[in-house]
Amino acid sequence: MNLEFLRRKFSLKETDDREVAPDVSQDDLVLDVTLRPRTFEEFIGQERLKDNLRVYIQAARHRGEALDHVLFYGPPGLGKTTLAHIISNELGVSIKTTSGPVLERQGDLAAILTNLSDHDILFIDEIHRMPRIVEEVLYPAMEDFHLDIIIGQGPNARSLKVNLPRFTLVGATTRTGLLTFPLRDRFGVIVRLEYYRPEELVRVVKRSSAILDVHITDEAAYEVARRSRGTPRIANRLLRRVRDFAQVKGDGTIGMEIARYALEAMDVDERGLDDMDRKLLLTIIEKYGGGPVGVDTLAASVREDKETIEDVYEPFLLQEGLIERTPRGRLATRGAYEHLKIDVPNRLF
Ligand code: ADP
Repeated sequence: MNLEFLRRKFSLKETDDREVAPDVSQDDLVLDVTLRPRTFEEFIGQERLKDNLRVYIQAARHRGEALDHVLFYGPPGLGKTTLAHIISNELGVSIKTTSGPVLERQGDLAAILTNLSDHDILFIDEIHRMPRIVEEVLYPAMEDFHLDIIIGQGPNARSLKVNLPRFTLVGATTRTGLLTFPLRDRFGVIVRLEYYRPEELVRVVKRSSAILDVHITDEAAYEVARRSRGTPRIANRLLRRVRDFAQVKGDGTIGMEIARYALEAMDVDERGLDDMDRKLLLTIIEKYGGGPVGVDTLAASVREDKETIEDVYEPFLLQEGLIERTPRGRLATRGAYEHLKIDVPNRLF
């Protein structure tokens, strides 16, 4: 797996975390796998989505057919990969996983497809980053379970049809708008994952601390949960760092004082905003008079990848009501000024 992919997946900042990025990514990856729920019962929250998926899975099993192709979309860390694995568990089939950027040539995808068995799951993470030419292999594969292979060139070229097993494609992407229409149209089930409520993240934190064998008080679990940007992966990551502080500075138990101390040391503020969130808000306010400012300009100003801003930072700031998206660019809201303790301009009253 390449570093750029990991960095985006775990929303690591290239600029200031450069030297620690590889370690952090690998640790996070291991943590993700250790803490990953295996069944719908263990998967916290997203109740409606789980209910619906259970029905589709049961119906497919009943008919003895492969499950319809499923597309999950939403910000990173909300459980798309986890759900793909749960689906395979519930169906009792194998899962093969890959990602859009890894599939560089048509042959890469063809090799994976021809190695699947009937009803298997193929999970493609970051499916929107698959090259268009590779994507075209998927159309007949998803629709009629066959590959069209062109052999030879020029006038001698022949098209060969290869039958494929009846598999289920599970795709994950941050935004459906990034997918081409022909690809999106071929998914029978399209599901959006929502940010989690703090009460749900408390359950994530408690479940993870039980697995990691560390004691955390109810209060401290809530403190970590409410500063986790509605995201289970972040809740787990913060929990791990807080645990380090508890071990080094305390007696190993995570209480409120240690939790607060650790979160402050990590520069995670009361609302769960980190350095980059605040930098984005400050840039809009101080450099661009509160906006509107286009995302390209913003990305250049804070030296962050545009896509990371759009996929990771912006959705949370929007949901928190700290920025607004207008056709002319991003605006800082009154809430943003108040949060940063900057005088609110008259026009926002
Ligand atoms: P995504 O694919 O959307 O980026 P993942 O499925 O990799 O997210 O989830 C990241 C981690 O967060 C998982 O390994 C798991 O530990 C945790 N997680 C995600 N969703 C849940 C959930 N609903 N309940 C408990 N843990 C979760």
